[in-house]
Amino acid sequence: MHNPKFHIFPLSILNMGIGGIVERIFAGKWIAGPGIKDAVRRTKQLNALGMSAIINYIGEDLTDKREIAEAVSTNLRLINEIRKSKLQASVSLKLTALGLRVSKSMARKNYNRIVGAARRRRVFVWIDAESQDTVDDAISIFESQARRGGVGITVQAYLRSGERNLARLFKKKAPVRIVKGAYKESGKIAFDTRKETTGNYRVLMREAFTHLREFTVATHDDSLIKEALELNRSHRRRVTYAMLNGIRNGYAAELAAQGNSVAIYVPFGTRWLGYSLRRLREESHLVLVLRSLLGG
Ligand SMILES: Cc1cc2nc3c(=O)[nH]c(=O)nc-3n(C[C@H](O)[C@H](O)[C@H](O)COP(=O)(O)OP(=O)(O)OC[C@H]3O[C@@H](n4cnc5c(N)ncnc54)[C@H](O)[C@@H]3O)c2cc1C
Repeated sequence: MHNPKFHIFPLSILNMGIGGIVERIFAGKWIAGPGIKDAVRRTKQLNALGMSAIINYIGEDLTDKREIAEAVSTNLRLINEIRKSKLQASVSLKLTALGLRVSKSMARKNYNRIVGAARRRRVFVWIDAESQDTVDDAISIFESQARRGGVGITVQAYLRSGERNLARLFKKKAPVRIVKGAYKESGKIAFDTRKETTGNYRVLMREAFTHLREFTVATHDDSLIKEALELNRSHRRRVTYAMLNGIRNGYAAELAAQGNSVAIYVPFGTRWLGYSLRRLREESHLVLVLRSLLGG
């Protein structure tokens, strides 16, 4: 974990061979690098283009107490660095990196500690959405801090419960980030097709326009972004358009240049493989990966 190079997971088959190739070609495209300084460097580039960053220290499903403590301390250092360098950036947390797989109380304690430090330094904190078995715990941990402000949470449109989850969050009037969803879920839990997921995203987005003053449309899907831009002509909400680092960042820069609020999700750290494989998996549009490699 402390290897300054990207960490290779013990998947021997991927080790060095395919792993090395994936690291060089894909991880480098999507991930800022192993350390805080890499996230800071990428954020400065984005800020210079009028975009903010949503920075994530990569890690999930941690159960080793030392690794969890390291995730907490890295996020605290990151928050200090954002403040010190006056970056336009928020921090995004995965609760399973803060101990949710060990116990809800451990994750809550660590989350509260990070949010407390972030509030003092006026840094906004997001909660990432993870696999469906964590969603209720994440919402309830979020709700405990939501009224005090400075925090937002992610809602996945591929979940059949997405609309219900969003309605629950409206009560807190807190910012939400709407995504399609990136984990493998059964058909009972999640929509089977991209078309259904996109349809449900549209439903959630319209609901957000009705009930929230401020939210984030996190997608690379032009049809959804165009619809949001259109809806906002009449609704006049504080909408941020967010994309992943290395995917359609040229389009993101165009949106920013047109005067929209735009944020790029910037992961950093050494545990890059799980994140990169999720990106690869969803690229049934491998063509899109190639396109993003060629031009962003
Ligand atoms: C800022 C941000 C934060 C996220 N946070 C989370 C999270 O917390 N939890 C979670 O589960 N998921 C998260 N995701 C991932 C998300 O759930 C999706 O897996 C991911 O965004 C891909 O879905 P999509 O909405 O871009 O649409 P897709 O259905 O993948 O793509 C739709 C269309 O977008 C266009 N497009 C997509 N990629 C490209 C490309 N490379 N080049 C050109 N056109 C392209 C194409 O027209 C494509 O048909 C996040 C995504 C973003 C952008």
